[in-house]
Amino acid sequence: MDTAGRFRAHRYRPQPEISTSSKLSVFPKPVTALGFDIDHTLGIDNKLERVAFLRLLDAICAEGGTCLGTLAQESTRIDGLLERQRSGSFSIDQAVERFAAERGAQMPSAYVDRYKQIALESVPEFFVPAPDARLVLGELQRRGIACAILSNGWSPLQQAKARRLDFAGPVLVSDAIGAQKPQPQAFAALASALKTDPGNIAYVGDNPRGDIAAAMSAGMGGIWLDAEDVLYAPELPEPSAVIHRLAELLTLL
Ligand SMILES: [Mg+2]
Repeated sequence: MDTAGRFRAHRYRPQPEISTSSKLSVFPKPVTALGFDIDHTLGIDNKLERVAFLRLLDAICAEGGTCLGTLAQESTRIDGLLERQRSGSFSIDQAVERFAAERGAQMPSAYVDRYKQIALESVPEFFVPAPDARLVLGELQRRGIACAILSNGWSPLQQAKARRLDFAGPVLVSDAIGAQKPQPQAFAALASALKTDPGNIAYVGDNPRGDIAAAMSAGMGGIWLDAEDVLYAPELPEPSAVIHRLAELLTLL
């Protein structure tokens, strides 16, 4: 069976088959600290930013701007804009200005703060922590395992999501640290925040390339959360461990 097939097969196991000996051999060094991705790992935000852009569009049109198509077409455009922004092509401020300018706003820059306010106010309603996220983070803290979040995005928004998780550790957001996953500088910042050698850190995320392969190339362990039918590309290095629910972390460490 090829590598991808082997990982797909994990999804259908009700419980991970982790023996005591495999616990010890999963990581080359003892794991004393963990890094976490946020979106689709610790929780989901239910397209919060798409909806924030649609609400902004409503304001722009009410103030003399123009819709470029149906709401379905605008949603597709917004998703594309956000995808480019999240890949590091431009900042969220530039994304909002571009969006407003394309729709005929007189002062595109005036919409940046309004967009951010709409998005931040949506966090309590839209962001839903993973069912066991708070429990697992609390137990890791009780065990003395240092935890930090490393997330791509803009800082006040990702910080607000971390607060919804009652997360007490450092929260590193790409726009604030000036580096984003999969860049090695982002993982170096994580190791620095955790005050730990990368070899003693495992990073937990849902994205095979941006989270797992990137963390492993930075010398960390990579724990893939396989919970959303994402295929693990066979050319990527095998993760150090595969989990299907965050609670499985507690049996790994
Ligand atoms: Mg993610």
